[in-house]
Amino acid sequence: MSKSSVKILGYGVDGYDFEQALEYAQDNGGQVVTINPEMILAAQKSTEFSQIINDAELVIPDGIGVQIGLQILGHKVKRIPGIEFGYSLLEKYSIAGKRVALVGAKPEVIALAVKNLKDKMPNLNIVYSHDGYFSDDNEIIKGLVESSADLILIALGSPKQEFFISKLKSHMPKSLMVGLGGSFDVWAGVVKRAPKIYQKLGLEWLYRTVKEPQRFKRIFPTLPLFLLKVLKERVSRG
Ligand code: UDP
Repeated sequence: MSKSSVKILGYGVDGYDFEQALEYAQDNGGQVVTINPEMILAAQKSTEFSQIINDAELVIPDGIGVQIGLQILGHKVKRIPGIEFGYSLLEKYSIAGKRVALVGAKPEVIALAVKNLKDKMPNLNIVYSHDGYFSDDNEIIKGLVESSADLILIALGSPKQEFFISKLKSHMPKSLMVGLGGSFDVWAGVVKRAPKIYQKLGLEWLYRTVKEPQRFKRIFPTLPLFLLKVLKERVSRG
């Protein structure tokens, strides 16, 4: 956790802007958590997950929910969409000729994502990639260690990716590791990101909920509950 962190429901979130966060991550390596309200509520029910978030080298506010929550608590922090953060890191590591690894998503999805990324960044040095449906963590960790990747993007959904990274971290203390949720599906072109206007208004979650109604049950109760808890925190602070 960096020095510029602010607290929300007991969890530190770094107050960097996009460029500062990119720089901090590259300089320090370690685990980057792209936090959202769902994760915070899940962490409140799990000491292990809480510990992982608290031990992360960088926690960035991925969604509008955390941005609004922080505003309610009087902190002006702008959200940093994980997918854009991950993409910018790939561009930087590609330019620097550093080694990159990707783990996550379905086999055909990761294959397509790797192909599309290489088309866009011809110098991208992908030294290891694997789909996200494996049973033996150690086998993947072994592959990653052997690849000596400098940047490792893990997209297994949350909290699976955060637990995996926390395990991997001790084996690769110098690398930078970011949990990226469903980003590979977007890079593969199998899931579309919301149109720009939704992104600008911070309403990507609404677009995705309408497009994938099965997400409704998961997302909808979360945001109001999260904001209610933040309001309570604000009131109790006076
Ligand atoms: N996934 C995976 N392994 C698993 C479960 C999920 O690789 O065991 C992938 C899934 O294919 C998808 C991503 O993890 O690419 C999760 O996407 P989701 O949209 O659920 O994540 P969110 O962004 O909501 O955390």
